[in-house]
Amino acid sequence: MSPKEGGALARKRYSSKQTASSPTSAKQEEEMKNHQNLVRNISSADNIKNKRKKKKQNKAKPKRYGLMSYWELPEYMKDNEFILNYYRADWPLAEAFFSVFRWHNETLNVWTHFIGFVLFLGLTMANLLEVPQVADLLAFFSRSTPISAVTNVSHDFISDMEFASSVASPEMGVTYWPFYVFLAGSMFCLLSSTICHLFSCHSHPLNLMLLRIDYAGITTMIITSFFPPIYYIFQCDSRWQFIYLGGITVMGIFTIVTLLSPKLSSSEFRTFRALLFASMGLFGIIPAIHASVVNWGNPKRNLTLMFEAAMAFFYLTGTGFYVTRIPERWRPGWFDLAGHSHQIFHVLVVLGALAHYGAILVMLDWRNSFGCDSN
Ligand SMILES: [Zn+2]
Repeated sequence: MSPKEGGALARKRYSSKQTASSPTSAKQEEEMKNHQNLVRNISSADNIKNKRKKKKQNKAKPKRYGLMSYWELPEYMKDNEFILNYYRADWPLAEAFFSVFRWHNETLNVWTHFIGFVLFLGLTMANLLEVPQVADLLAFFSRSTPISAVTNVSHDFISDMEFASSVASPEMGVTYWPFYVFLAGSMFCLLSSTICHLFSCHSHPLNLMLLRIDYAGITTMIITSFFPPIYYIFQCDSRWQFIYLGGITVMGIFTIVTLLSPKLSSSEFRTFRALLFASMGLFGIIPAIHASVVNWGNPKRNLTLMFEAAMAFFYLTGTGFYVTRIPERWRPGWFDLAGHSHQIFHVLVVLGALAHYGAILVMLDWRNSFGCDSN
């Protein structure tokens, strides 16, 4: 017999005893029932009140979304099985935005590229406005020859803009638009990556869209990186400028169109994507060899090549981390918050872009001193 059945039997016995012993028991029983009903009604009214109160509290205090493990993730979020915990999934946009100040496995991915973006924004502003203090701070990357030495144009913003849009000639100094195209491409890549890592946990459609923007950003950064070196090195031979810049632009458009396919955004195509980006980067070897031959006697050649070799090292090492997912594959779960491959890849991308920036400043310096006639 279950305890429930036992209790029912006892109550039955008690009530039959009561009926037999007292004539007023029927009335008492009815009163008891009424009382029980009243208590039930009051408690149900209390329940409704409590529920309303709770609802109000929920509205006033937004729910704090919890982090989850890899196994709890919806399928579209499963990308790296070596990162085991601290995932966000299906979070509202506001919650995802404020998670930039919380610890989860994307926090450092967001910050590494956001800091990179701010750095490149600062460099762009410093170059546009020619702030001497900022230039001094970044002495390593600053130009040694002021533009005025060549142009005798005052250094206010408007003249800089006019200067940037001027056509290159030995009398006029250098054209600056390819330099700013590179800076804009880098900023676009770093910002789109930041946004992708922050918001891709919101929903599957947004995740797919942001991943495509992220890949378009990487491609844009690679294409725009080619503009300054090819423009300045082959400044005196527009035929090669056209061939190389046209070639890399066509490759970039092909890459973006290919990566628009949602299937290619999945984790199984990680190596394919890396190969696509790396082959675009490695395409640079052809104009680099050509440029070395053309500028064999140039005193700045070795310095430029050193910067570009540093860039290639940073980018290729970064791609290596991206593909192999080292170190988290060695110890899954150990690098969830800090130190996993994607964070290392992000830092190396920023360092590679800075090395390329250094190389471009050397080229600008050279082009400011030597026009086509004295090449
Ligand atoms: Zn990333």
